Amino acid sequence: MKYRALLFDWSGTLVDDLPPTLHATNTVLGEYNVPALSREEFRQRFRLPYPEFYEELLPGVPIETLEDTFRTSFNSSPKGVTVLPHAREMLDWCRDQEIRCFVLSSMDVGLFTEQAHDFGLHGHFEAIYAGVIDKRERIGDILKAHDLSVADTAFVGDMVHDVDTAKHGGIASVAVATGYDPVERLAQSDPHHFFDHLGDFRQWLENSIIQPTVRV
Ligand SMILES: [Mg+2]
Repeated sequence: MKYRALLFDWSGTLVDDLPPTLHATNTVLGEYNVPALSREEFRQRFRLPYPEFYEELLPGVPIETLEDTFRTSFNSSPKGVTVLPHAREMLDWCRDQEIRCFVLSSMDVGLFTEQAHDFGLHGHFEAIYAGVIDKRERIGDILKAHDLSVADTAFVGDMVHDVDTAKHGGIASVAVATGYDPVERLAQSDPHHFFDHLGDFRQWLENSIIQPTVRV
């Protein structure tokens, strides 16, 4: 097997939370009389670490003052969070293959914990790192803490910041086109692998299992 451990981003990689995120972002912007963003405008402008995005749209407003409104509005969004197609199957398959799974996400710890429990996905992960604003600053410590070898560990995510984080940690980057960053931008970040979705990644991993040579 090519990879023995996978770190997963959460939003846009395992779950689709774009609708409530957009709803909550526009509620926050509305409080400061900033016009709402369309889905495409949001995808063009949003980036991680997210304080940079808010500083651009709401200069000088401390991020902590926005977070309560964001959380409340996220939870009352007309469209909720859903598990992405192929995500659950991917995690089940990893468990069967004894591939160690972790989460590394910027998402607020409270929101993350609720979702992971609601979807019954919590138990798939050996450890969870949520609420990480800049993943690049944490990746090295996480690899060390779990004794993960750079040669057979990969970080799977939907944003340029995820690809950058993998590079920062010296591990492979796996980009999936199911999330926030527009596909062209994600491709330009030059990930090691680029898949349409986790189902294709799983297929690729299955094909990478080295079959024993049979002599005839
Ligand atoms: Mg993401």
